Amino acid sequence: MAELGAWIDLSHEYSQHTPPWPGDRLFRLLTPDVAAESDDNTIVEEFEASTHLGTHIDAPLHFLPGQKAIGDFDVSHFAGAALVLDVRGQQTIVLTDAQRAALAETRPDGTPRCPVVLIHTAWDERWGGPGYFEGYPVLAPETVAALVAARVHLVGLDTPSPDAAPFLAHPELLRHDVLIVENLRGLGCLLGATSVEFAAFPLRMRCSGSPVRAVARRVPGGAE
Ligand SMILES: [Zn+2]
Repeated sequence: MAELGAWIDLSHEYSQHTPPWPGDRLFRLLTPDVAAESDDNTIVEEFEASTHLGTHIDAPLHFLPGQKAIGDFDVSHFAGAALVLDVRGQQTIVLTDAQRAALAETRPDGTPRCPVVLIHTAWDERWGGPGYFEGYPVLAPETVAALVAARVHLVGLDTPSPDAAPFLAHPELLRHDVLIVENLRGLGCLLGATSVEFAAFPLRMRCSGSPVRAVARRVPGGAE
């Protein structure tokens, strides 16, 4: 009997070195010398960062004023069986017929067989270099429509965003509670797996987004 694979870390480091979205502030460590100053030999840092820095998740509130914050979702929204789509080489991401069919598969109760969809573009190879935040691949409108129609919970990308200005994919996905995980890394490790389990839990904050520790593992035997 095959065993569950080890958890794979799909997150970038969250630190002063994490490249922010253009115009956003860098992560700032406010008390780097706390250890030296404290009376009781404990170390307690303080930091300041955008809720959309690094590997993170977007809530509807990010684009839709008055809508749900990330802390409003049940934790079950942030984990599940994942479909990994290899879309390398496409600038505007259009799914193949086979990918669309896999996306549309449902369980007997009508819920999606894979409530998580991971979009592997390999753009993460540019992380930390010039140009990561420019000219990245984006989802075609019909791909956004297919994700919404499939009623998935999460779309994860190894790019900064599913769209570029005027940012039409974000509100369309978020309005249907399809939350967006951005700046993933290493999705290529999951290619060829028959079944993958994914999780990316945010902090329980009343915010438009949150950093996440995104992880996945191979599950033997395919979908149940
Ligand atoms: Zn974001």
